[in-house]
Amino acid sequence: VAANVPGKKYWVFAGVIIALVIIRKLGFWLTTFKSYSPITLYNGKQTARGCDKGGCGKWGAPRTRADGIGKHEGQDILCTVGSNVMAPYDGVIERLSVPYPDDARYSGVVLRVNAALIIKIMYMQPASGIVGQKVSAGQVIGICQNISIKYGTNVPPHLHVEVHEWGVKVNPEPYIFKT
Ligand SMILES: [Zn+2]
Repeated sequence: VAANVPGKKYWVFAGVIIALVIIRKLGFWLTTFKSYSPITLYNGKQTARGCDKGGCGKWGAPRTRADGIGKHEGQDILCTVGSNVMAPYDGVIERLSVPYPDDARYSGVVLRVNAALIIKIMYMQPASGIVGQKVSAGQVIGICQNISIKYGTNVPPHLHVEVHEWGVKVNPEPYIFKT
């Protein structure tokens, strides 16, 4: 009987870990089966920013920044300045989000998809009155701003998209690109 006690503890421990993983992934599972649309179209399709003279657009790409964060914590999507930005999922535009507190030229929004999940879309001018509104996937929520003015023409105009699961930034790729 005594030999069974440590075994039981390990099962409880494993159960807790599995439960935490399930809770953490809840946003993804709830969302995968809901409607999805491209965030923006560039030359007629949604195009990830690859690598250019200004850097790479992928999650985890190296970055040199004043605040010391050494990696890209989002996914960039190419856009044409002034083109429409669409809600990728049904949700609520919860609030504005400002990428640079000291640079009022650029703005963004936070789209709440469900209790677990928010999507931040940066370098876009929000549509007037959109904050606080319920939106549907595909609905226009703003227009693309020109980030090249800030970083120079080596950095092409793009949207910076972040996905937060329970407040933790995760790779946006599975949420914003259909496979
Ligand atoms: Zn970015």
